[in-house]
Amino acid sequence: MDIEAGDILVMKKEHPGCGSNRMRVIRAGADFKLSCEGCGRTFMTPRSKCEKKIKSVLRDQAEKG
Ligand SMILES: [Zn+2]
Repeated sequence: MDIEAGDILVMKKEHPGCGSNRMRVIRAGADFKLSCEGCGRTFMTPRSKCEKKIKSVLRDQAEKG
């Protein structure tokens, strides 16, 4: 799966406690650093584990620098 920093991940499950299922990608590598769009919390998760939970990816269509 092609995921870049700045993408919004729509997850299959809501974030416990806040109910948002959208996570912004802060950094993409072997691990993803994600920021919850609902509560703003940031956390690291292994790419392989995270990819199984993604429903869809939203990408800003604007050209980057
Ligand atoms: Zn949250």
